[in-house]
Amino acid sequence: MKAPAPRVAATVPLFATRAALEPLLPEVAARQRAVLESGRYVLGPEVEAFEREFAAFAGARHCVGVGNGTEALTIALRALGVGRGDEVVVPALTFYATAEAVVNAGARPVFCDVDPGSLTMTAATAEPALGARTAALLPVHLFGNPAPMAELRELAAARGLRLLEDAAQAAGATLDGRRAGALGDAAAFSFFPSKNLGGFGDGGAILSDDGEVAARARRLRAHGSEDRALHTEVGHNSRLDELQAAGLRVLLPHLEEWTAARRRVAAAYAAAGLGELVEPQRETAGGESCYHLYVVRSEGRERLAERLAAAGVASRAYYTTPLHRQPAMEPYAPQRELPSAERASRTSLALPMGPALAAAQVEAVVDAARAALQPA
Ligand SMILES: *Cc1c(COP(=O)(O)O)cnc(C)c1O
Repeated sequence: MKAPAPRVAATVPLFATRAALEPLLPEVAARQRAVLESGRYVLGPEVEAFEREFAAFAGARHCVGVGNGTEALTIALRALGVGRGDEVVVPALTFYATAEAVVNAGARPVFCDVDPGSLTMTAATAEPALGARTAALLPVHLFGNPAPMAELRELAAARGLRLLEDAAQAAGATLDGRRAGALGDAAAFSFFPSKNLGGFGDGGAILSDDGEVAARARRLRAHGSEDRALHTEVGHNSRLDELQAAGLRVLLPHLEEWTAARRRVAAAYAAAGLGELVEPQRETAGGESCYHLYVVRSEGRERLAERLAAAGVASRAYYTTPLHRQPAMEPYAPQRELPSAERASRTSLALPMGPALAAAQVEAVVDAARAALQPA
């Protein structure tokens, strides 16, 4: 989609986070200054403390901090034993990195469709992509909405598959009362600045209850070595750094209250009647989305985006080319049609969301959407 030039500066931002973050910046600066003065910048006490705190937050036994979310996925796949000759089932509707990580781990992505309501992989959408070489399922908790992990766990168990959560957009989301990141064999997170737990640069983490998977991920992030003398496999150089960990430790205690605020914004959109105008993403049964993005679908997407821009409301279409149609993924293009992913690519639009979005701003968005889609 070509984004039309906004006629007025956006007064309702797409990511309404600034006002929530601002009061914490002095504390972030103080903690990062202490790191600067300590002289320990890579794999020190801040990363160790963050790993403990983030594992406890998500309810997982182990956390391994890495350089970014993409490498969290690649390293987690390798730590789970997925590699050359293996196939990994990946939803066609997600950020490009989900499939890129599979290729970088030496495996083949096999694209599956998504559920038309929840926009995530389900057992039913994964099933047609399974084959003799399938080694893992890689569901994405898209836009913060958890994939139905119970049925995916069952499918994985029945077929002897590994189950890795792409939880890059899902920090703070829950399913049946358990947090995203503790719902599969391992999970990958991103702390890219725009994510719900967003740092001040790149960062990522792997969670797992399995001590061996965590130990292997720990080796892989540091050149395949435990003691920096003997290298037992070819690994990566991918660590969460001390400055990022120090900043993230200031933000983590606020994630729960920010998630609650995002959920209140979603409820306010519903109460204002947005669902009569467009089709919002549906939450998975038993799931509580952390609303990384608030995504709706409309056949009138272009007009809606234009009118919102004219009214000073930011919006953005994500994943307008599904992964199986990306030029770099041509070798993995499926024979099957993936109609729900295609339709979502064509019709979905992210509306303003964030813990700092005011009630009046929610109303302004819904009013502008109504004016766009129900012309008087
Ligand atoms: C952001 C994101 C990633 C990659 O994370 P980076 O930290 O940017 O490398 C992977 N998967 C999904 C679904 C994402 O949204």
